[in-house]
Amino acid sequence: MSLAAGLEIVIATYNPGKIREVEEALRALPLKLRFLSEFPNVATIDEVGKTYEENAVLKALGYAKQTGQTALADDSGLEVDLLGGKPGIFSARFGGEGSTDSDRVQLLLQQLSRHESEQRRARFVCCMALAGWDASDNVRTQQPQLLTVILARCEGAISLAPRGSNGFGFDPVFIPAGFESTFGELPTEIKAEISHRAQALAAIRVFLLRSMGQA
Ligand code: IMP
Repeated sequence: MSLAAGLEIVIATYNPGKIREVEEALRALPLKLRFLSEFPNVATIDEVGKTYEENAVLKALGYAKQTGQTALADDSGLEVDLLGGKPGIFSARFGGEGSTDSDRVQLLLQQLSRHESEQRRARFVCCMALAGWDASDNVRTQQPQLLTVILARCEGAISLAPRGSNGFGFDPVFIPAGFESTFGELPTEIKAEISHRAQALAAIRVFLLRSMGQA
């Protein structure tokens, strides 16, 4: 597989928190980042998969096909041991339609309220999938191909109350292993080094550089 330097890649998510982190991690690479907001006729791909990988692959292939660009999709979630790994792949839908990040955080704390003295172990999981076309297929006659899939985890625990306002989603209640502060309190540079998404993006960076013959 070879990819052209100067390639255009669509960040295949509508989540502004994810967009910021992906943009920051790929900024220095010799490629042009595009956004789904630039393609108003694109239909949302439903997350009907049973795993992070299935959903990430569905989104990468679906958005690549619709935009005609290489697409980088992220499917991620929070797994809480005391809840048997929930909300997991349903993290964005935890609390139902119309609920906000803050509603979801409150619901999570409520479900863990009987376990305040226990170690509330949890992990963030991120699967990134990249789909597109080999540099030789410059007229894009074929369907997009799956180029790579990466799965990464960040272990930690759920705090007793929300702390800090950095990041998004469950960041104000997630304390990464080895720290006492939540991702909401830690500087964004720390999350950009150790998070589930940071680890997946580091592998995506290496893949892209190699495929463009730059590493
Ligand atoms: P997805 O859009 O189906 O991948 O859902 C991801 C959901 O998992 C988000 O809406 C958040 O609730 C949660 N999540 C994933 N990654 C993070 C993160 O880095 N910080 C906080 N919450 C996250």
